Amino acid sequence: MLIDLKNIQSDELENIAFTEKNIKVFVARLDLLHPVVSGNKIFKLQYFLEAGMQAQHKTLLSFGGAFSNHLLATAFASKANGLKSIGIVRGEKPGNLSLTLQQCQDFGMQLHFISRQEFKNAGDESYVNRLKAKFGNCIVIPEGGYHPLGARGASLILGLLKNKEATHICTATGTATTLAGLLLSAGENQQVIAVPVIKNMTDIEDRVYQLTHVIKHKNLQIIDGYHFGGYAKKNRELVNFMNEFYIQYCIPTDFVYTAKLMFAVQDKINAGFFPPGSRIICLHTGGLQGNHSLPRGTLIF
Ligand SMILES: *Cc1c(COP(=O)(O)O)cnc(C)c1O
Repeated sequence: MLIDLKNIQSDELENIAFTEKNIKVFVARLDLLHPVVSGNKIFKLQYFLEAGMQAQHKTLLSFGGAFSNHLLATAFASKANGLKSIGIVRGEKPGNLSLTLQQCQDFGMQLHFISRQEFKNAGDESYVNRLKAKFGNCIVIPEGGYHPLGARGASLILGLLKNKEATHICTATGTATTLAGLLLSAGENQQVIAVPVIKNMTDIEDRVYQLTHVIKHKNLQIIDGYHFGGYAKKNRELVNFMNEFYIQYCIPTDFVYTAKLMFAVQDKINAGFFPPGSRIICLHTGGLQGNHSLPRGTLIF
């Protein structure tokens, strides 16, 4: 691993309502692992980085939007490992690059912009072959690390957590790669809970199958209905929640993923979803840099 992972810090959420229900809630602070490549992304990249270092054409190529945590992590991790990186970016090149893309460039990533229409099929084999013809025989990482190798990388997370006796492990779900990694590594008696951050995400089980080749994970639960309108959508209630959560626990969250996760878990605890005696671990998967896209003053942290 290119960053010192030690044990991941675990913060207990002190809340009288949880104590009364005999429930303990911990936040596993993957966001603190590194200032740039915090969170789950570095794990998902692990085996692609290894492949890149063994390959002749020492270049990783991946895909993402203008605020992609994944592209930024790819740019940084490539540079740190002496690899080149290429980012295929969704949408026409803007006059001003987002902070995320500027940082990608600073880490040596070569950015290549394609239209939203073209981006939709950019992961297809024929398109990938065209990219390889253009950029050389790169290691191509699907958007968000959505690939069995990404899931294998994410399966390393649980081994680093301190609260191994958790009854529930909860994660925000985008591509479901992190989720798949958790399912690969969780014990039989540990429930793994997915909170989709995308609207109408009905294919989570199928995605997990593609990533793990296990037909049914008995310990998978999906808590839907907390996407706040869809990917990267938000409303005042979510923003208020983020500020209140920070005041109460001193933990910053991001509006795309971790705020929705924490909102969902808290709401479900209040609704009695978790039985007494539950020890819940929520993964803080990082992504805080994405908050830069919010208007100044929206958040108090
Ligand atoms: C990418 C990301 C996720 C989603 O992970 P998947 O493996 O794509 O499901 C969750 N949280 C944060 C902060 C992320 O950046």
